[in-house]
Amino acid sequence: MLELRELYQELILDHNKNPRNYHALDHADHEAEGFNPLCGDRIKVFLQMDGDKIKEIGFQGSGCAISKASTSMMTAAVKGKTKQETEEIFNQFHLLVAGKTIETFDQNLLGKLAVFSGVREFPVRVKCATLAWHTLRAALKGEEGKTVSTEIISTEWEAG
Ligand code: ZN
Repeated sequence: MLELRELYQELILDHNKNPRNYHALDHADHEAEGFNPLCGDRIKVFLQMDGDKIKEIGFQGSGCAISKASTSMMTAAVKGKTKQETEEIFNQFHLLVAGKTIETFDQNLLGKLAVFSGVREFPVRVKCATLAWHTLRAALKGEEGKTVSTEIISTEWEAG
């Protein structure tokens, strides 16, 4: 079995090179933009809901390898999930990257996202990894026209 660190690097490189769901959605009914000023990561998440379920998800943006890979893996993890399930995965992911003790994790829920435990060693990278999730949450809440910032959770668009 590969070491977690190797697996982490391999998955990040793969998702950075071939991001999943990397496109806008023609029929998006929810979207939100996220920005991490510390690194310059900027992403836009598009959703098409089917009732309470995420039917389709896509993203666009630019940023570092970790933010792109994390967004790519987030989209793969939540596609077909309900809002509640998505919130549970986000909570687990947040605990994981914040370096909380491992026994609180539900490995089935996190799946491949568990490789992001590696970012806890790099505090600045935690925001790169969680940007996708904060943006997804804003999109689900229908906070359109706002940019979610990792520094200020919800910021109005600056004029102009
Ligand atoms: Zn970044």
